[in-house]
Amino acid sequence: MGSEVLNKSQVVQERTELQPLPMDQEAIGNGFLHYFSHFLGRDKYSESDHYTFAALALTLRDRLMERWRRTRYAYESSDCKRTYYLSLEFLIGRSLGNSLLNLGVEEPVRKALHELGLQLEEILDAEHDAGLGNGGLGRLAACFMDSCASLQLPVRGYGLRYEYGMFRQQIENGFQLEEPDHWLRDGNPWELERPEYTQRVQFGGRSETYQDGTGQTRWRWVATKDVLAVPYDVPVPGYQNDTVNTLRLWGAAATDEFDLGEFNAGSYPESVEQKNAAENITMVLYPNDASECGKELRLKQQFFLASASLKDVLRWWVKHNGGDFIRFADQNCFQLNDTHPSVSVAELMRLLMDEHGLGWDQAWDITRHTMAYTNHTLLPEALERWPVSLFGSLLPRHLEIVYEINARFLEEVSRRWPGDNDRLRRMSIIEEGHEPQVRMAYLAIVGSFSVNGVAELHSRLLQEGLFLDFHQLWPEKFNNKTNGVTQRRWLAWCNPGLSGLITERIGDGWIADLDQLHQLQSHADDPAFRERWRDVKRANKVRLAELVEKECGVHFDPDAMFDVQVKRIHEYKRQLLNILHVIHLYDRIKSGDTSEWTPRCVLIGGKAAPGYFIAKLTIKLINNVANVINSDPEVGNRLKVAFVPNYRVSAMEVICPGTDLSEQISTAGKEASGTGNMKFMMNGAVTIGTLDGANIEIREQVGDDNFFLFGLNAQEVRTTREEYDPNTIIAANRDLARVMQLLESGHFNRFEPGLFDPIVDSIRTPHDPWLVAADFTGFVAAQEQAAAAYRDREHWTRISILNTAGSGRFSTDRTMLDYNRDIWKLEQVKPLNGE
Ligand SMILES: *Cc1c(COP(=O)(O)O)cnc(C)c1O
Repeated sequence: MGSEVLNKSQVVQERTELQPLPMDQEAIGNGFLHYFSHFLGRDKYSESDHYTFAALALTLRDRLMERWRRTRYAYESSDCKRTYYLSLEFLIGRSLGNSLLNLGVEEPVRKALHELGLQLEEILDAEHDAGLGNGGLGRLAACFMDSCASLQLPVRGYGLRYEYGMFRQQIENGFQLEEPDHWLRDGNPWELERPEYTQRVQFGGRSETYQDGTGQTRWRWVATKDVLAVPYDVPVPGYQNDTVNTLRLWGAAATDEFDLGEFNAGSYPESVEQKNAAENITMVLYPNDASECGKELRLKQQFFLASASLKDVLRWWVKHNGGDFIRFADQNCFQLNDTHPSVSVAELMRLLMDEHGLGWDQAWDITRHTMAYTNHTLLPEALERWPVSLFGSLLPRHLEIVYEINARFLEEVSRRWPGDNDRLRRMSIIEEGHEPQVRMAYLAIVGSFSVNGVAELHSRLLQEGLFLDFHQLWPEKFNNKTNGVTQRRWLAWCNPGLSGLITERIGDGWIADLDQLHQLQSHADDPAFRERWRDVKRANKVRLAELVEKECGVHFDPDAMFDVQVKRIHEYKRQLLNILHVIHLYDRIKSGDTSEWTPRCVLIGGKAAPGYFIAKLTIKLINNVANVINSDPEVGNRLKVAFVPNYRVSAMEVICPGTDLSEQISTAGKEASGTGNMKFMMNGAVTIGTLDGANIEIREQVGDDNFFLFGLNAQEVRTTREEYDPNTIIAANRDLARVMQLLESGHFNRFEPGLFDPIVDSIRTPHDPWLVAADFTGFVAAQEQAAAAYRDREHWTRISILNTAGSGRFSTDRTMLDYNRDIWKLEQVKPLNGE
């Protein structure tokens, strides 16, 4: 780059820095009109909401840009330590509302739009969800980003820019149909392409040694097929604090050179095919939640993220520090969101040794002082393993490095436990056997200085079970960081009614400091406040009922109890237990057992992985049961059931404010934390749940009387499994026997004989790992308590208020401060002023 060009761009920068854009109604209105007519080229004949959305988004983006730059300058000039959050998923949802809230411009925007005859609500609804994640894990990453910016922590997210996000779910004849989610089709105003920071990522080829200038043996990775990683930066605004952090998403692009040969040989189509193969890497998000898919393309995605992100960080380091890595570990931390990016351990070793000339010991010292690993699951089917053959063909140099890490690690183990070969076999990063595998979780643990679980129970179970050997070796590495959610999106933005009422009583300090919600406790005894609280909840239920009516064609009466379970469909989450209870209620109505009845509207939603047969069949069962119940005049308004299609972030923003009863009913010991449970609690829903994941901490915060507990605990689940006999349980329980009888008689599949046999079998088999029959009785009893509590409106409202009041701990602000105190040790950095 010529210095003349540099000087010109400096002049441009200095000019723009002098004139921060005004945030008032008039300036925003003018910005909007400019983008609508001059940039997007639309006019009065435009009938699409998309362009009004795009014009408003661009108007706000302008205001984000200058804060973004000042945040970058502050991080550069302070030479601060930084953390990089590596995640294959960021389930962002919509960004317009979040930008309005965090920039503090909702008022002037509403007024400016009103003057133009436009409605903010309609514009907000035109935004497509950024569905770059499956469920809790991806949404957690998005909430973390919001909290880090709000706390002014120098944290950057690294992820992938999938062309197709989480599939759109349609329900046809009760079955799930998957449709592609081409979320970028209309463009994405929230991203800024940064081709100048493109990285080259290698695949395949082979590893070879050579002598460097000093006669040292070194390694190089040659004959590789390379793919370009192009960064797309997404601004992450903090809450009204002028900080804008960065989420950098990598898109794959073909290199220019490799098609030339083929092109010149006259095989243009073949060269285009290669281009497609390269760009396929970030084409689609794998729709598996809590299970691995084992596909080669998935490993490519993981390495693509790891390599591009590490190179990006190292490029910056070398630019500022040359080849001196002495302070690198003090200045940088990589937080691995599950094992998905854990190949980073090997890639950082390779980059430091092969590309930056460090020796093994120094490279290893740096690696194991910069990597930190978060585990998200105890389910064995979710633990990632890659066949050594596949790993080695895609990443030959990394396989060598993993072998070397493992050899040195096992030496350490055998020094500590001499002669304990069983232990060596158990702990090896390479699982021996017919098809040897790389155990990614073990690679992550060995390469990290911190290993954390995501709720107290989960972290304890990890240490006692899955990672017991590692905990014995390195107890100091293990710690807990209970998950959270951001109260900006999940209360302040999505529930303006409740948000306004809370602020009226205790001020708006809770938006940046959620513990302040404790002050609501004393107001729970004020009847006038309770009435206001009820009014807000009812209005939110009306809004939710409208969604259900529109999406499902089912009428929900807002005075009934809204009983909601929305989350990925998975056996361990036990949507099946929920629907068995629904069938039981139906059975009671049909047999006239309806004295002291609490009218109830049951809403269930969630996506099943496309290859997960029994989960998809569960969706069909829910829909069939709903059809029978909703069309039975004898049932009437006592019970309604609906399955809401295409559950996603923007749907949850309407669902959790309108919920009375939050279903968190996983088999104890299986849900690592849960975060849906926290969103519901914050919005004044009461939980019915097992002693699992963060439910335990929720119950601790809100008190036993304000939580409907049932079911086996994690310990009891383990012992019950040893001699589990569901058929005896069913035979001994009249209610459950009748429910099974209805299911088995084909009552819900009159014209689809045998359809639900696999579900019946899954309940009756002694090998049912989820113990559905075992928890039925307790569940029904807890549901009865909830129904009785709901009939006492004053009592229920009090519980509802206490749930919101007790939710302070479940802010990701607290979670991020915990990570920062124990793992990252970053200092808060405020953006530089304009001067
Ligand atoms: C919060 C959230 C989840 C996680 O819900 P759990 O009940 O914790 O499994 C999944 N999907 C979406 C869209 C969410 O907003």
